[in-house]
Amino acid sequence: MIVDSHCHLQMEDFSNDLPSVISNAKTEGICSFVVIGFDLESSIKAMNLARKYEFIHPVYGIHPYDTNKYALTVFKEIEDLIAEYRPIAIGETGLDYYRDYSPKEKQRIFFNEHIEVANKYDLPIVTHIRDAFDDSFRILKESKRRRDILHCFTGTINDVEHFKSLDMFFGITGIITFKNSPLKEVVNSIPNNRLLIETDSPYLSPVPKRGKRNEPANIVYTLMTLADHMKTDAESLESLLLKNTEEAYRFKFNECKKRT
Ligand SMILES: [Zn+2]
Repeated sequence: MIVDSHCHLQMEDFSNDLPSVISNAKTEGICSFVVIGFDLESSIKAMNLARKYEFIHPVYGIHPYDTNKYALTVFKEIEDLIAEYRPIAIGETGLDYYRDYSPKEKQRIFFNEHIEVANKYDLPIVTHIRDAFDDSFRILKESKRRRDILHCFTGTINDVEHFKSLDMFFGITGIITFKNSPLKEVVNSIPNNRLLIETDSPYLSPVPKRGKRNEPANIVYTLMTLADHMKTDAESLESLLLKNTEEAYRFKFNECKKRT
């Protein structure tokens, strides 16, 4: 059984065919989906999907890209959502200095606010970090966070060393299937018990689906590439990843329902 540990099934991209996207995934053994919010509206939509499908688990937060759309009062609304339907984590939050959609200072303030909320409700944090590993590390370390999740990890071996010291989990996307992906070398330095896989659907389709809309069924390409690279078989890797995902989200995912 595979969990897609990070996807955005609430997006418009899936509004026409979500049931078939889900059944394609189930055929491949992907039976649970962590649906991540990136602003208030998408967090609400993630909650609504979770209400509808028992195998969808929501995460609420404001992406660093989107921090500029909001005042700090948005965290009251996030807390209302938490009270309404408990998520399995907070995010995606973090820092993105690669794209300057929102000022760095505002991103840092929002990142710290997410940390406060996660502390208050005892939830793990899903981080999006791009070209901002040093500042993100400092913020997480100063707030004494441990065992959070680095989604779509694209850092260096040196970054792995830093975040390992905070006992964090590293989400590997379809980027690892790309030709000459620098991620292959980096993955070797991640402890086996801290590896996760994710699609980040509808983004980041793995080879051979590159350029098309990504969907959870495609996680098998990432799984197979990673298994080859680690010189293990897909089945052993699958059970390792399930154990890791449950530890990261501190949540027991339901077994796949038998198909009738
Ligand atoms: Zn994402």
